[in-house]
Amino acid sequence: MNLSDINTVRSLLQKNGFTFKKSLGQNFLINPEVCPAMADAACDKQTGVIEIGPGIGVLTAELSARAKRVIAIELDGRLKKILSVTLSDCENVEIIYGDVLKTDLKALIAEKFSDCERVAVCANLPYYITSPIVMTLLESRLPIDSITVMVQKEAAERLCAKVGTRQAGAVSVAVSYYSESEILFGVDKNSFMPPPKVDSAVIQLHIRDNPPVKVDSEEDFFRLVKACFAQRRKTLVNTVSSAAGIDKEIIKNALLKLGISETVRGEKLTLEELAELSNLI
Ligand code: SAM
Repeated sequence: MNLSDINTVRSLLQKNGFTFKKSLGQNFLINPEVCPAMADAACDKQTGVIEIGPGIGVLTAELSARAKRVIAIELDGRLKKILSVTLSDCENVEIIYGDVLKTDLKALIAEKFSDCERVAVCANLPYYITSPIVMTLLESRLPIDSITVMVQKEAAERLCAKVGTRQAGAVSVAVSYYSESEILFGVDKNSFMPPPKVDSAVIQLHIRDNPPVKVDSEEDFFRLVKACFAQRRKTLVNTVSSAAGIDKEIIKNALLKLGISETVRGEKLTLEELAELSNLI
């Protein structure tokens, strides 16, 4: 079955009485070039792949052909009947019905991928929870090598932005801390059914073995980062002192030690400067 063919998909959905749920970010890929390219970038025969939100299985089938095993987590139980047909030939695929954000991925990896050389995440993400999913994957320090995901173009630019540039946000700091990121390719909105309002892009995050900067406390570091980006127009001194309850003089002295102006805005600091500032205050 050609799951990228719009007429095939339409009749499959119609036959099963399936209607799209916008609230679940259901925009299915119908551009035949995208899923093979994502799967090629994400895995090989030694890889165990976690897919988030298989939909009708268009990416799942491509992953199945290239990976050792695929575990796909889908929240929408209405897709069960469809997936049992579309993936009936894919013996190395297992679907778990549930919320990815409530799934114990560490336990899942230990249970399902013990015979795989590496583990990767690959998905066309539901856009309403892009950041929570990416942050969960990064912060829970899962034994994964890479994350290859489709996200909205703007989110891709934000996630992969160099820290210290205008496009960067707190999430870009986390991405840089835990991984090396790149935007692989853009995807036009008409590649989806139904088409979303904006274009998308596929990004790849290669998980680092060790962070590129040394921080005394990750909790304090990320608290500082959140405070820095909370009110972007304010100076770092003002926003950090009010958000983190730190005396302004302590922050000014730390900036002085680092040779940074006390009127600097948080978004201007590099990853190294944020780490040093966090260690000082
Ligand atoms: N992979 C398919 C494709 O590329 O055509 C579907 C991608 S669609 C953008 C997102 C999928 O994620 C939908 O199937 C949706 O039901 C599922 N989904 C939404 N929220 C989820 C959650 N919290 N956990 C797991 N899957 C979720």
